[in-house]
Formats: sequence, C-alpha cells, structure tokens
Amino acid sequence: MKPLVAIVGRPNVGKSTLFNRLIGRRIALVEDQPGVTRDRHYADAAWGGRAFTFIDTGGFVPGEKDSLLKQVREQAQLAVEECDVIIFVTDGREGVTGADEAVAKYLRKSGKPVIVAVNKLDTTSGQMQSLTADFYKMGLGEVHAMSAEHGLGVPGLFDEVVEKLPPKEEGEDAEAPPDDGIIRVAIIGRPNVGKSTLVNAILKEKRVVASEIPGTTRDPIDSPLTYKDRKLLLTDTAGIRRKKTIAHQIEKYSVIAALKVMERSDVAVLLMDATEPAVDQDAKLAGLAEERGRALVIVVNKWDLIDADQRRQEAFRESLRHSLKFVGYAPIIFTSALTGSKVEKVMDAAVELAEQFRFRAPTPQLNRLLEYMVDNHPAPIVRSKPLRLYYITQVTSAPPTFALTCNHPEGVPDMYKRYITNQLRKTFDLRVPIRLVFRERP
Ligand code: GDP
Ligand code: GDP
Repeated sequence: MKPLVAIVGRPNVGKSTLFNRLIGRRIALVEDQPGVTRDRHYADAAWGGRAFTFIDTGGFVPGEKDSLLKQVREQAQLAVEECDVIIFVTDGREGVTGADEAVAKYLRKSGKPVIVAVNKLDTTSGQMQSLTADFYKMGLGEVHAMSAEHGLGVPGLFDEVVEKLPPKEEGEDAEAPPDDGIIRVAIIGRPNVGKSTLVNAILKEKRVVASEIPGTTRDPIDSPLTYKDRKLLLTDTAGIRRKKTIAHQIEKYSVIAALKVMERSDVAVLLMDATEPAVDQDAKLAGLAEERGRALVIVVNKWDLIDADQRRQEAFRESLRHSLKFVGYAPIIFTSALTGSKVEKVMDAAVELAEQFRFRAPTPQLNRLLEYMVDNHPAPIVRSKPLRLYYITQVTSAPPTFALTCNHPEGVPDMYKRYITNQLRKTFDLRVPIRLVFRERP
C-alpha cells in the first residue's frame, strides 16, 4: 500500500494550485480512462525512489453551511486519521491567522509528521526569512517557503515529504495486490449504507469458516475467512474501531478510506443504500474502482425496506446502469444485509470476479480474435492512412492488460478502443476493468 500524503489548509492559501502543479509535473501516473467520473483530488507521485499518493483534502467540497474553522478542522482530522505525512499550506503574505493556529494545535497533538508550506512567497529575497519566522512559532517543526504559482520550492518540498515518509514496506510499490491465492475484498460505500452489517452477515453465513491467514496483519477491520474452499480477506472501510469519530461520519472519509484499501484489494464491493440513493457520491466511488483498475461488485443494500416487485428492481437496475455507465461491466446485486438476503450472492460474485481479475488469455486465441475484429469492423483511417493492428498479447493481469502493436499508437480513436475492449469482454467473459496499451511495431 502506497503511503498517503495529505494537503490541508484553509481556503485560498493555494492548495489547489499546489496540487495542480504536482499533477502538471507529470508525476501523476494515473492513466486517463475515457468516460470515468474522475475525482481529481488525488494523484500518484514518484520521487526520490518512493511512490506515494497526494490527497487534496480541501478538494472534497465541505458543506456550505459549515463554518470555516469547522471545515478546516475536519480536513485536518481526515488527514491525521488516514495519511502518513501532512502538508499544511499557509499564506506567507497574510501571516499566521486564527484558523492556522487552530489547525496547528490539532496537528501538534496528533504527532503525525507535518510540513508547514508557507506559500505565495514569489520572490527569493531575504525578506522570506522574516516572513517564515512566525510560522516556526506554531511549533510544528519544518517550515518550507514556496510559491505554488511559480513553482519555487516545490522540489524541496518533495524532498521533505520523502524524508518524512514511513519506512518502505515490502511490496508497497506494487500496482496489484500479491497473487498468493487470498482474495482481498474491500467493502466500500458512504457512511450508514450497511458496510459493517454486511460484514457481520457474511461472517454469520453457514458456509463461512473464520480463519487465520498466516502472514496477514490482523487489523481489527480485516476479517479473514474461508468460503467454498477459497481464502478471503474482507476489509471493512467503515473501520469498526473508528466508528465513533467524527471523521468517519464525513462523506469524504469514504473516498479516502476506499482509496486507501483499494490499493491492496482485488475486488471492491460498493454498497449503496436503496432508500437513499446519492448518485454523485456513489459514482465517485465506482469511478475510483475503475480508475484504480479493481474488480467491482455493485450492491444495492436495504432492499428489504423497498416495497419492491420484480419490475421495480429492473427499473432500479436500469437507472443505475445509466448513472454508472463507465462501470457497465460490474454486476449489480440487491441485498438486505440485515436479514442476510442475497449476501451469499455477493460472496460468489467477489470470488468469480477475483478469478477474472487474474485471468490470462492465450496469445494464439487473442490473435484469432484480433483477426476477427479487424475483419468485422475494419480499423479506421488515421492521418489519411488505415490504422493497422498487427498483433495482440496480454502483458499483465490484475487487471487484465493487453498490448496491441500497430502503425499509429497515438491515433487510435476512443470508439475503436471501446470496440476492442467490448470484444475482449465478450470473448473471455470478463466483468472486470480491462486496460489496452498501443505500441508501435519495433
Ligand atoms: P485553495 O483554496 O487553498 O485551493 O487555493 P487556490 O489554489 O485556489 O489559490 C487561491 C488563490 O491564490 C488563487 O488566486 C491563486 O492563483 C493564488 N495563489 C496560489 N499560489 C500562489 C502563489 O504561490 N503566489 C501567488 N502570488 N498567488 C498564489
Ligand atoms: P456502515 O456505516 O456503512 O458500516 O453502516 P452500518 O452497517 O453501521 O448500518 C447503518 C444502519 O443501517 C444500521 O442501523 C443498520 O442496522 C442498518 N442497515 C444495514 N443494512 C441494512 C439492511 O439491509 N436493511 C435495513 N433495513 N437496515 C440495514
């Protein structure tokens, strides 16, 4: 799991500017997937031999009715609970404000490593020394002068972040969870949709044997179990332990928590509340799973509260399919975690998708499919020449990733990419994210 680095601070100090600069430096490794609802408030980065993820906590729009102080404090709390290093951005021209003091007090108590970034210092004059002095007095240690707008001091900031990261863990840079036969399932969703109830229902399931998996950390939020001879590790992002804290009740917590556990999961089970659909937030979480390339099971929970017949369910499914178009491959299951209804179906889907997630296609079969695809739907013209696809091979799994050799790797239209993806899905029955890479013929 990559370490998380949070950017906190009151509005207008330059958090977004800093964040956009981080992305602009092309340190963002996140690949653009067409049609994904993207939450651009996190970005993967690599620096000084370490990989980590930046999160702009200010970007998770807080409630408008909340006071400034409350908003900033909530951000800081999220950062403290979930992140490894905190960049506390302040405005060097305005100096230390009351809101800054309040956040500083909270951060000091947390004991988390903090870097104070004093922003908007656009010139490298000696004046800067005196300007940053007040920020040292906040007692958070390291103070870093910078200008996000002009890019001054940003590399130095990176150096400091890397210095403060926790010691490197084995497998932390891996793009996919280890292939050790254990199916890692993340239970994600907004607060109160029934995540903990679902985990409890699964653990009560007759076919489940609670088990000790050697070598796994027994975090209280992790539940190892055996189901139909398969070893599973469920991670409940509701975090039973943290249930009482305010941060847990904040919607944006679910995004950060999902981001955190998704990394080390094969399958994400996204719960939503049938009685209280929150399309935007649910779509954000689904988009996260797609972007991170994880298998996804969509679960519509609390179905017992809906006075539903078959028609109602089909209508619900249709409207979900429409609002979550970009994950059209993901199965949708209607459950009641409270009564245990259809809970086993969720488990079966998770196990099946985990297999597809690790799927490997034989190269000869892939190339027969390529031939068929090109025959049936001739490749388009790119820069007045027909696009030629020569060869296809699967380069990695988890998620399945295919490389196509062609004459114009840059010019393949999105529509043709979708056509290829859909054909791969159909041929190999893949209901997980699929990645395509286009390469020039050597
Ligand atoms: P956020 O609310 O903390 O995300 O702040 P923004 O990134 O939106 O920046 C607020 C304002 O400060 C914008 O008008 C920015 O252009 C400006 N700003 C950000 N960084 C700098 C800087 O380094 N120098 C100067 N002079 N202005 C900056
Ligand atoms: P979490 O925050 O996502 O972990 O949600 P919880 O598991 O704590 O559930 C929130 C509330 O919804 C609790 O009062 C549960 O009893 C209730 N709940 C969860 N699942 C169901 C369900 O399938 N049907 C009904 N009627 N209530 C449910």
